[in-house]
Parts: sequence; C-alpha cells; structure tokens
Amino acid sequence: MSDKIELIGLSKEELQEHLKSLGEPSFRAKQIWQWVYFYGKTDFADMTNLSKPLREKLADYFELSRPKIVDEQISVDRTHKWLLEFKDGQRVEMVYIPEEDRGAVCISTQVGCAMGCKFCHTGSQKLTRNLTAGEIVSQFMVARDVYKEWNLKEQARMLSNIVVMGMGEPFQNYDNLCRAVKIISDGEGIALSKRRITVSTSGIVPHIPNFDTEVGTRLAISLHAPNDELRSQIMPINKKYPLPELMQACRQYQDNNGGYITFEYLMLNNFNDTYAHAAELIKLMKQYGINAKFNLIGFNPWPGCNFAPSSNNRIHAFSEELQKHGFAAPIRTARGQDILAACGQLKSKKTEQ
Ligand code: SAH
Ligand code: SF4
Repeated sequence: MSDKIELIGLSKEELQEHLKSLGEPSFRAKQIWQWVYFYGKTDFADMTNLSKPLREKLADYFELSRPKIVDEQISVDRTHKWLLEFKDGQRVEMVYIPEEDRGAVCISTQVGCAMGCKFCHTGSQKLTRNLTAGEIVSQFMVARDVYKEWNLKEQARMLSNIVVMGMGEPFQNYDNLCRAVKIISDGEGIALSKRRITVSTSGIVPHIPNFDTEVGTRLAISLHAPNDELRSQIMPINKKYPLPELMQACRQYQDNNGGYITFEYLMLNNFNDTYAHAAELIKLMKQYGINAKFNLIGFNPWPGCNFAPSSNNRIHAFSEELQKHGFAAPIRTARGQDILAACGQLKSKKTEQ
C-alpha cells in the first residue's frame, strides 16, 4: 500500500496544514477543496488553476481515490445497489432509492455491525471494522460520479438526500460520522444541507441528547418494540440502554431542538403489531412527553431469519391507532426487495444469484 495521505476525509483545516508543509499558501486549500468536492475531480491533472509542478507535487503527496464498484444491480423499481470495495479489500453495500424528482442515497458507517439485532441481515454478520470519515464521504461521491451530479444546483439533484441507514451502527463510529457530516454539508463542496441527511441509530443513549448541537442532521431512532421485554428479545442493545434511559435521552433531544422525534418501528408479525402493542406505545410516549412521529417499516425477510412481515391490514390498523392519538405514522413501503437492497438486507459479500 502507498504511504500517501488520503485527501478525502481531511477537514479543511487539516488540508491547509498539509499544504503548508508543502510550502503552499492557505488559499490553495480552498481551491483544491472545490476541485475535489464541488467538481468531483479524481485527478490532480484536471485542476487547471494550479501550476503543473504543483499538480505533480500534489499527486505524489495525496491519494485521491474512490472505493471500487465491484458489483451493481438495478431493481425493477429503479432502486440501485452497489457493492463497494475499499483499499484493504473490505466491502459495503450502498443503495440509491429514487423518487419522482429526487431520491436518497443510503450509506454505511461500518463493515458489518456489532449490535446483533435479530431481524437484521447486517446484524448477522460480525463487525469487521469502522469506516474512516473519508470512506463514509466517498460512498456518496461514487453515487455522484455514477449519476453525473457534480456541480449541480440543489433543485436539480436527483441524489437529493442521504440516509445513514446502511450497514453498521453510526453511533459506534461517532467521531468519523461527525467528520463526514461536516465535509458533506460544507457549502463550498458537496453542499448537501444537514436537513437533507438523516442518521439512524439503534439507540446508543449517550450520543442522543446533544446530537443536534454536535451533528445537526435529522435523527431517527430504531425503536421496534413498546416495552423492554420485547425490545430486549430483538435488540441486545436494549439490555445496556433500556427504554426508560432511551426515552429520557429522546426527551432531552426533543427539549434541545424544540422539535419532535422520529422513530422507526418495524412491523413483525404477531410480535409487536397488535392493538395492545399500539396502546402500549402510545402510553410510553405520553409518559415521557414525547412528540413522536413513527415510520412504520414493513419487515424485509432474508434467508435464515425467524420473523415474518405483518399483513397490510395489521400495518394499517396499527397506523390508524397511532394517528387517532395524534401521532403521525406513515407506512414505509419497501424498495429494491428483489435485489435485496431494502432496509436490513445489506451485507458485504457478493450477492449470489
Ligand atoms: N444501525 C442503524 C442504521 C441502519 S439500519 C439502526 O439500526 O438504526 C436502518 C433501519 O432498517 C433500522 O431502523 C433497522 O432497524 C431497519 N431494519 C433492519 N433490518 C430490517 C429488516 N429486515 N427489514 C426492515 N427493516 C430493517
Ligand atoms: Fe446493526 Fe442497525 Fe442492523 Fe441493528 S438494525 S444490527 S444496529 S445495522
């Protein structure tokens, strides 16, 4: 492996420091930042406002690579899935979910996941390693390459949003997540507003109360059950951070940002999907004074899992019950199921056909 410095993932200040050590003035950092993050250039030779000797010097000093696309599939519903490989051979999957005139890119923060949620395919695969900030950012850069969306105005972008809902638990890689968000939302580069980024966590409590000031993107909490007994059965993290602690943290987050909380709630047949469960969920929210919005997610089965999806009737009844008590509860339809690209179906091996 080369000992060059990986440019993608450096903060602006760090980039400036490196350029200083090469004897360059600090405004070079801004020029290079724009080439890399606004124009999406992958070759220093294209950075035409820099002298040729400097371009060569930079190419000797910095690495400016992307993860490699080793496989890709497009679903009948146009959901696009890529298998990406990093320099050390580790792989993650990334998904683009197109809507009418916009869409979200679903990116990963870890190879595998240590949380072991019972319903999740990624969770059945052990944690291999955290991704670096550069690896988190460069996933989205690959998507922009493919869809040729560099140097476009916000309204013209099809890749309009990012959801950090791929492989891994983002709060177990918190520092790199923070660094990545800072780079992606920087107005002189990729310039994706934090309001268009959603981070989903399984409920690592300590990072929730101050998430708004520390990261500032939208936040979604994977709840999936209305009481500790059920939640602990499917999410081992609940034993470490049980519902009273999680709810307190959510309440603090809500008090800090003055808004509401988004919960993901997976609809598992005969497990968490009855009227009694809905009633319990409503009670829990009232008890902690939480202004909740629930995204009801249809369960996406995968080979070897023990759960079945709830029926549509059940899901609608559950949604109506929540709405009757003043909670928004939209039903999320699965996308890209035919290519195993839907929530909880990602893994890092090449998909067997
Ligand atoms: N690790 C984070 C983010 C990635 S998972 C988290 O757990 O929140 C993104 C969402 O997909 C989570 O809400 C997760 O609970 C959900 N999910 C996991 N497995 C699923 C499956 N098989 N079907 C549907 N959703 C699933
Ligand atoms: Fe990890 Fe999220 Fe899957 Fe749980 S649902 S195993 S936290 S990726």
